[in-house]
Amino acid sequence: MKKLLQETLLPLYDLFFPKLCPGCKQKVLNTNKLLCWSCLLTLPETHFDPKDNLLFKKFPKTLPLHSLFALFIFYPKGIVENLLYTIKYEQHPELGSFLGQQLGHYIQAFFSDIKGVIPVPLHPKRERLRGYNQAEKIAEGMAEILGCKVYNALIRNKNTPQLAHTKKDRDEILIGAFSLSPTEKLPKGHYFLIDDILTTGATLKACAKVLLKEEKICLSMATLAYRV
Ligand SMILES: [Zn+2]
Repeated sequence: MKKLLQETLLPLYDLFFPKLCPGCKQKVLNTNKLLCWSCLLTLPETHFDPKDNLLFKKFPKTLPLHSLFALFIFYPKGIVENLLYTIKYEQHPELGSFLGQQLGHYIQAFFSDIKGVIPVPLHPKRERLRGYNQAEKIAEGMAEILGCKVYNALIRNKNTPQLAHTKKDRDEILIGAFSLSPTEKLPKGHYFLIDDILTTGATLKACAKVLLKEEKICLSMATLAYRV
């Protein structure tokens, strides 16, 4: 029965409802791949050195970050914008995990001491509406490659507005927005804080300040993309 479905009905389904690549919205010929070959080969990778790159300028020197990395450059209306939109708003958490794996492959080449990955949390109300936290999906993909654990070590206390669309002081809005989870303890070690995009860095900075209250941890950050 399963064979019959795969051999007859699925090709018909593909014919009437072709799978579109989330990067370029063109039909994907190889249905085993999440992205078309053209997008996979032209993704704008940063090739940053996680220990020394321009992202450090977005954070104060007083914040003791071990390393900092973004996998792609976000250009408005580019492939990466389409991918992030698809992960967040079109119910494709598997794309987040897939790109998280790519992030993991890159990070793996630089570090062998990573204890765990910590996703930037969504407010529970927003997570219920979406059904998942996109940062957690990215973290899961990354953890799979690095062979470490995902620690939901932060909780979001405030349902803050979309920071990209606000003119108010972002740091001020985020005061008290995050705290340490009372149930998820962090053993001593090196952790990566994970989010989908780095824009001003205000959200990551607010999370890092809370995490660094734990004296026994060493903190790095990584995102799928950074906005130029
Ligand atoms: Zn494509």
